Amino acid sequence: MIDKYGRQIDYARISITDRCNFRCRYCMPEKGIEKKTRDDILRFEEIIPLIKALSKLGVKKIRFTGGEPLVMKNITELIYKTSQIEGIKDIALTTNGYLLEDMAQELFDAGLKRVNISLDTLDAEKFKYITRGGDLLKVLRGIEKCLSIGLTPLKINTVLIKDFNDMEIIDFINLTKDIELNVRFIEMMPIGEGKQFYDKGIITANQVIERIPQLVPIKSKEKTVAKVFAIKNHKGNIGFITPLSCKFCDECNKIRITSTGTLKPCLHSKQEINLKPYLNNEEELLSLLKISIFDKPKEHFLSEENVTRTLRRMNQIGG
Ligand code: SAM
Ligand code: SF4
Repeated sequence: MIDKYGRQIDYARISITDRCNFRCRYCMPEKGIEKKTRDDILRFEEIIPLIKALSKLGVKKIRFTGGEPLVMKNITELIYKTSQIEGIKDIALTTNGYLLEDMAQELFDAGLKRVNISLDTLDAEKFKYITRGGDLLKVLRGIEKCLSIGLTPLKINTVLIKDFNDMEIIDFINLTKDIELNVRFIEMMPIGEGKQFYDKGIITANQVIERIPQLVPIKSKEKTVAKVFAIKNHKGNIGFITPLSCKFCDECNKIRITSTGTLKPCLHSKQEINLKPYLNNEEELLSLLKISIFDKPKEHFLSEENVTRTLRRMNQIGG
């Protein structure tokens, strides 16, 4: 499907829950998360018809995210059913990795092709602090499991957090030396809890790139909005996702579905289209999706205004 600015939209990120087993400080508050009822959240029986409709409009890649997608019990079945939908070529997952150690094999067998694991520090104490209680070693075992079963190339997503992980950037880059693992540094966005971090100052991709002259720009084999770099003799590569310092709206090929079943054509816009009432009627759903995707906003104005217009927190949108 081509939108009115000529962009081909072939990628959907679907947040399947807003619940999470971590409470990362820049993403979720410690307490006071309102409990959603089953009726509020997209049910799996609704997600499959939605993906079928999206595939009819040319979506080829689905990424499941959250909250934490692996806390959903029947995610393996969801992945399997998605893999059976004609036109879906790629199924990916964004996870905090905590449950991967036990689940990677069944997810892979069900048809999962790629995993992005969010990891902001390699220090166990700092990890516990930023996630409010997470166990780094368990996540590292999950990473090893993915590598051992061939769920590669694996991506590590690292949000750049000023005075927290700037001193670990080289350690993350070194992870790519001997392992088929790609690291993506993400600029902190002023969304939800991230606003407090953003206001204290951010590390931009360009600041990191200037500090590391060994980074050589390359053209990525996959369609991506990241700026990708190689380092001589490293098996993996390094990428930067720069929504603030350099927006990539012209190349944006994605739409987002929130955990409550609304379509978000742009992460930073407050525009949301409620799909829930149409999920049982393919014809109506297709026509609503067509109009909404066609009208995807041209660009966001985050860097100019310093504020996002989305009314959601990241755990509801899915990153
Ligand atoms: N729980 C899963 C995880 O952590 O990978 C998936 C959902 S999480 C919301 C998706 C991604 O959004 C993670 O990589 C997380 O680090 C990132 N994220 C959350 N809040 C952010 C913020 N304010 N700025 C930039 N990235 C953020
Ligand atoms: Fe949970 Fe992911 Fe948000 Fe951390 S970033 S609180 S793991 S949803």
